[in-house]
Amino acid sequence: MLLRQLFDPRSSTYTYLLADEGTRDAVLIDPVFEQLGRDVALIRELGLTLRYTIDTHVHADHVTAAWLCKQELGSQIVVSAQAGAEGVDVPVHHGDVLRFGACALEARATPGHTDGCTSYVTADHRAVFTGDALLIRAAGRTDFQHGDARTLYRSVHGQLFTLPADCTIYPGHDYQGRTVTSVAEEREHNPRLGGERSEDDFVGTMDNLGLAHPKLLAVALPANLRCGRPEHPLPEVARWAPVMRSYAGVPQLEPEWLDEHRDAALVLDVREPHEFNGELGHIRDARLIPMGDLRAQLDALPRDRPIVVVCRSGGRSAQASLILEGAGFPEVANLAGGMIRWRSLGLPVA
Ligand code: FE
Repeated sequence: MLLRQLFDPRSSTYTYLLADEGTRDAVLIDPVFEQLGRDVALIRELGLTLRYTIDTHVHADHVTAAWLCKQELGSQIVVSAQAGAEGVDVPVHHGDVLRFGACALEARATPGHTDGCTSYVTADHRAVFTGDALLIRAAGRTDFQHGDARTLYRSVHGQLFTLPADCTIYPGHDYQGRTVTSVAEEREHNPRLGGERSEDDFVGTMDNLGLAHPKLLAVALPANLRCGRPEHPLPEVARWAPVMRSYAGVPQLEPEWLDEHRDAALVLDVREPHEFNGELGHIRDARLIPMGDLRAQLDALPRDRPIVVVCRSGGRSAQASLILEGAGFPEVANLAGGMIRWRSLGLPVA
């Protein structure tokens, strides 16, 4: 099974991408609204088909990207039936199994942080995605959203600590840069729930945390009860071209589009002069500024016209695209695959 742990620094949220490496069917656990572009780029680059987004619970600290993923990738929205959210495609119950290709996740109700919290265990019991029920050396707070410390203690001891000792725990958050833990570790070292801590010890701890409410509570809760569907239609972003940002963060444009809309942008070629005039040729009316001269010649480039950057294979031009964006050029794209791909598609050269 393919597994990627992704991080949203603003809310310290972990998002998990899981996929069957054979069929390429995938699920995304706890996607974050603002990270849609990153997640879509990774899913496309890895050639995956997103079957489900899974929210482990109705979050209070960030808005889910479940609805956005459904619009963009056609995935189905999975949330606990207990959560009472609207727009859920697959309301899950304790014991339900979600299949994607030959992989499967078993839903285990682990309420206590919220009443709808659900953990997901892989079929081989080697990994569990615990949301906020169990965190690394911590546990989700129990002071709002129908939270209940006794219930959480019983969830963790009954549903999570009973998993194999070497089962890896993938939490919903970490605020100190820690990534994963294991059942054995948390059973022994979790300061709230592990070792000799009793249910009453846990209740005494959780009732006295004295935490402030999350900053985004008033925004996130109602939005997540709609699975992240915005209250008002999102503004249409006027785009000069179908530019897609890669997982590496580079704005990219396909060569076929540029060929069909050749006059929509200035083509900036950042190769050396001998390459520009060499075997691969260059695109009609391209402006040549070798990569090494680019920073010094930024003032010679228009800011009121889109710029498509090209080089031999798309590597130097990717770097150049980021330099232009960093210098405030508003409409920039890298020509994906460079002149090699342009030529292999049989597109015209000067
Ligand atoms: Fe939470």
